[in-house]
Amino acid sequence: MEIQENFCPKTPQCPLFQGQMLASEKAQEIYMNLFCKAGFKGRMSCKRFLVSSAGVKPPLEIMPDDSRSVEEIIVSLRSK
Ligand code: SF4
Repeated sequence: MEIQENFCPKTPQCPLFQGQMLASEKAQEIYMNLFCKAGFKGRMSCKRFLVSSAGVKPPLEIMPDDSRSVEEIIVSLRSK
């Protein structure tokens, strides 16, 4: 798939975008429209993008709309 300008630059390697995180195609489509294909604003509200941009690889269980702050997510991942 060609990456469009409004797509998150992490789409080629992101397991959510690549369909590895959600069983439901409908749910994946909703997430992609809200975050992955929603330009700068979309990805800047995605916790996977923000955690990854902070230098920490987000595991599969981190969803774009995780309710925790980026710092809280990173602290919790480091304590595992
Ligand atoms: S917006 Fe988030 S979920 Fe979507 S491709 Fe980027 S990092 Fe992955």
